[in-house]
Order: sequence, then structure tokens, then C-alpha cells
Amino acid sequence: MCGIIGVTGIADASRVAYLGLYSLQHRGQESSGIVAVDGEGAARSHRGMGLVSDVFDEKVLGELPGDVAIGHTRYSTAGTSVLANAQPMLARYREGPLALAHNGNLTNAVQLRSDLVTKGSIFQSSSDSEVLVHLIARSEAREPEDQLLDALERVEGAYSLVITIGRTLYAIVDPRGFRPLVLGRLGRGWVVASETCALDIAGATLVRHLEPGDFVRIHGEDVDDLPKLPARPHRRCVFELVYFSRPDSTVFHRSVDAARRALGRELAREHPAPGADCVFSVPDSSNAMALGFSEESRIKLEHALIRNHYVGRTFIHPAQAGRMAKVKIKFNPVREVLEGKKVVVVDDSIVRGTTSKALVQLIRHAGAAEVHFRVASPPITGPCYYGIDTPTKGELIASSHDVTEIRDHLGVDSLGYLSLDGMLRAAGGDPADFCHACFSGAYPTEIPGDDMAGARHAAPLLTTAV
Ligand code: AMP
Repeated sequence: MCGIIGVTGIADASRVAYLGLYSLQHRGQESSGIVAVDGEGAARSHRGMGLVSDVFDEKVLGELPGDVAIGHTRYSTAGTSVLANAQPMLARYREGPLALAHNGNLTNAVQLRSDLVTKGSIFQSSSDSEVLVHLIARSEAREPEDQLLDALERVEGAYSLVITIGRTLYAIVDPRGFRPLVLGRLGRGWVVASETCALDIAGATLVRHLEPGDFVRIHGEDVDDLPKLPARPHRRCVFELVYFSRPDSTVFHRSVDAARRALGRELAREHPAPGADCVFSVPDSSNAMALGFSEESRIKLEHALIRNHYVGRTFIHPAQAGRMAKVKIKFNPVREVLEGKKVVVVDDSIVRGTTSKALVQLIRHAGAAEVHFRVASPPITGPCYYGIDTPTKGELIASSHDVTEIRDHLGVDSLGYLSLDGMLRAAGGDPADFCHACFSGAYPTEIPGDDMAGARHAAPLLTTAV
């Protein structure tokens, strides 16, 4: 997954982008970068591997002058964790510097890339986003907007984009609207970001959520809505609300915190745990869900797992080996809370089942008498092709095991997953507007070969700018 930000009309725009990237760090920890454009239209780039705090310092930011900037924070797995794939991409073409930061995943990138290579394009990275840069540069249209449209007509899948051409910033959301993007006002300037928490840290106020198909041009103080991209049924990623976004953000017009509490309440209604002594979350992503479960069930909320905040997300480590060690590094149980108790553990999702299994062991070793596991989303049965980093189908425990088998694998006394309908009810709005393909198999686009979501893990040829 990735976080993106665009800033314009603000002196030292790179500093605002830097701050924003800090609060989008949860969307990607592998690399980050900023491109800034100065008053003469000269673009400068700095990208590096690692966290925003590793990549940028006062000196680097001082070398990124200008009142226009875009930034990116990226997550992919180790195989292709290389600087060449860090974003924003910066290219020099006939209109001058073009910089692009992409959140999402193009589903026809392999085909497009192979066509482009056949025609003589030379790629600098293995990222799907570079396909877009080539398509823009190859367009025969005269106006930059038409060049962008030419490129977007060819691509399929998920893209929220911030692009600068010269000193103009474009913000674009694909017609299905898989990934969020918001527009905020900061003084006389503008900030576009993946989530509202980035506006908050920058001191910007939310003007609007960009809608599916929105194509916005920002030049100086002027914001122009260009004609929308050809309409498609909306498919907002429900997993943004379940897991990915920060709870202090509003995503798709919905408070993430409120959605997660509602998920917890639905879960308590669908899978109550009568007689349990306490309920607790797997911190931090399921905190609000455990709160909702507790409110609905009137089972006491406890803090029984303490998370060490200095180790990053265990999911980030691609190797399966040593998972228990990683879980222990990340979580420690509070023995006094657990000893002799019948407990309900609430987690947002089960992916491979490895973290959950190790957690259950930790909880049992700390003395819990019964462990009832509750998951605030349905079983994940297929990979995401639209930007969430899920493993291949074969690695997803629910693709080959039913709930009883998973219960036995985890070693819990009971296991309950929220239903698809329950999840969509809690997410709010029109259920038809959501993409839930990883749970339901209802992929809204053609999907690439079955192993494409694992391409990052297997072959270094193609990575996705998620
Ligand atoms: P697992 O052991 O693979 O079942 O991991 C489950 C945990 O991973 C849950 O606690 C989720 O919060 C977390 N999780 C779910 N999806 C992702 C993702 N795409 N990236 C990182 N962590 C995730």
C-alpha cells in the first residue's frame, strides 16, 4: 500500500509534504520520497529507503525548494525493495518535468508494459506506475490534460494519483474509486492527500473527498474540476475502513473510528460470547472494534496485550520463519488481566493465521482459561489486486480451510468471523459501492493471472506501487 500527498501554493511545499508523509507512514514503510518544483519550474527529487524520518532531514528538505511538491510513502515486500521503485517518479519529457505518485495497483500493467517494451520503451524501474509515465509521454495529444487522459484510458485497476507537470498539480481518482484521496486548504494553497490525518498534521482544513473518476487540476490558487473520467460502478475498498486507514481519518466520507466501532458492535451481535469475563483488542488496528464489541455485549473491555511501538508491523517481514519470535517482540500479555479468565480477543482480520496462532499461544501461556477469537471482517479468501499487500491465494488460510479448521489451527475455544453483510452494514452507505473482492471473490475488474498479487514476492520483474 502507499500514501501520497500533493502540495501547491505554499512556500516550502516540501516541508508540508514531509509532515504529511509522517502521518501517512502507516500506509507504507519501505521507502519515501518528495519531488519539489520551484518558481522556475525546476524539479528536484529526493527518495530513499526506509521511514520518512530516515530519509529526510533539515538539510535534505533545504535542497527541495519550491511552492509545489508531491510525496509518496511506499510498501512492498523485500524482493523488490529497491530504490529504483521508490516514488515519486520524476521524468523529463517534452512538457518539462513530470512527477508522479501512485497509490493503487494497475491490473493490466504487465500487458501494457510488454507492449511498450516491444515498441522500444526503456524502463528504469519494475514498478507498474512507470507504465503510466510512458503512456503519458507517448501520447500524441497536445495538452497535458489530454495526454493524461490518453494514458488513463489505457490502464485498468486502482489508481489515486498526484502528478505534477511543470508547476501544475493534478489529482486523479480512478472511476471505481478504490483508494481514498482528499483535498484540503492551507492558507492560500492546497493539499491533496490519501487521508485526512495528513491534512490535520499539515494544519489544512478538509475541503472535500475526491470522488471516483475525479480529475482535478490545481495551478497556483486555482482549482479546476476537469471532466470526470468515464463512469464505472463505484468500488471503494472496504479494507481501508477495516484495517488500513488511520482511525483518526475520515475515509470515503466515513469516520474510520466510527466504522470500526460499528464493526465491533455487529460482531458482538453476530457472534456473542456469553459468560466471557473480558474482551480486548489486538492493538492497535482493532482497538475501536473491541470497544464496539464491549459496548454492545457489555463485556468488560481490558488491555491485555501491550504492543511495543518500536518494531513496525510484523506483516512487513516477508519470511515466515521466526513468526512467533516476531509476535513476542511486538506483543506482551498482561498476566494479571488474563489469569484464569474466559477472554474474547478481537482482531480486524486473519490473513495467513500465523500471527493469530502465535498470539493465542501467548494468551494461553499467560493463564487464560478460555480464548474466544472474534474477527471483525469475513474470511479473506483471495488476494487483492488493487493495492493492499495480501499474499498469494495459497498462503491465505481461509482460501483452503473452513472456520472449524481455522479454529482448530488457532487453538481457540470458539471462532467467529463477521459476515459480509454485517461488515457492509457497519461500513455504512450503499453496500454496492464497496469492493470486497478479497472476502467475496467478486472482483470488479478482470484479474491478472492468479499469482500476480504474489509477483512481488516471486519475480522481481513487476512490482506494484501500492
Ligand atoms: P496473519 O497472521 O497473517 O493472519 O495476520 C493477521 C494480522 O495482520 C491482523 O492482526 C491484521 O491486523 C494484520 N493485517 C491484515 N492485513 C494486513 C496487511 N495487508 N498488511 C499488514 N498487516 C495486515
